[in-house]
Amino acid sequence: MDYQAVLEEVAAHARPYVRQGRVADYIPALERVSADRFGIAVADINGEVYGVGDWETPFSVQSISKTFSLALVMAQSHGGHDSIWRRVGREPSGTPFNSLVQLEAENGIPRNPFINAGALVVTDRLQTLTGDASTSMLHFLREESGNQDLAFDQAVADSEAEHGDRNAALAHFMAAFGNLENPVPSVIEHYFWQCSIEMSCRDLAVAGGFLARHGLRADGSRLLEAREAKRINAVMLTCGTYDAAGEFAYRVGLPAKSGVGGGIIAVIPGRCTLCVWSPGLDARGNSVAGAAALDHFTTLTGWSVF
Ligand code: GLU
Repeated sequence: MDYQAVLEEVAAHARPYVRQGRVADYIPALERVSADRFGIAVADINGEVYGVGDWETPFSVQSISKTFSLALVMAQSHGGHDSIWRRVGREPSGTPFNSLVQLEAENGIPRNPFINAGALVVTDRLQTLTGDASTSMLHFLREESGNQDLAFDQAVADSEAEHGDRNAALAHFMAAFGNLENPVPSVIEHYFWQCSIEMSCRDLAVAGGFLARHGLRADGSRLLEAREAKRINAVMLTCGTYDAAGEFAYRVGLPAKSGVGGGIIAVIPGRCTLCVWSPGLDARGNSVAGAAALDHFTTLTGWSVF
């Protein structure tokens, strides 16, 4: 596979979509990013990395961090990860990522780890396991991406906190049901920091390599059991692209996780991990040009999981 040539063609296909979406404006710090950006990277399972466009420009990972926090909780639980699945489900929610409505009827157990409520539970667990969830996440992402310069974006974290009433409400609600182990202020603070980490398409594609290598890191050491990597990929496929995961699976056919910063990571088990970034979002919160690019990638290569 000539990845570079495929990426050039994918980028040319996606270009017209770049200005079609709307840059996230729910926090002022995200709104500052230019809508014109587009980058895509592929990291194959042997460690080769290819990229086109703004693939080395850092952006706010936002909800893409939810994939990595789940992986880190599983890795830190040393096989005892089943406890997390008593506190969070694995069904699509059919409601927006920050919705409160299901929590009351479902006794404070979020539908899945990729909506905000579920990610807050995962962050809470990570806080218990590590004593410092957000710093552990940063170190984990530095390790997996091979980029020791990764950092939090303080302006984004502060902005999230200033506009964090809804996340605070989700956390308090779950605490009322006994589904948090740590104080609400600490859980939401670590969650905001984890969302604020800045990474490029290159960093994210490389960091997500273990998902394509059935749980193995680039150096061959084991981060997760193969079945754990399978489970993360399965939840990405069914719940990873907000309330549009069905449409995304239909169009692209890959496990993927998106974030409101405009990034999407996607996994082709046994082959490679991709990351695409373009800040213009559709009404569901997925990058318009990013989805078009991944759609075209699987069309050109025939590499969906189906
Ligand atoms: N930090 C964001 C929030 O909790 C994550 C948004 C996202 O990427 O879905 O609202």
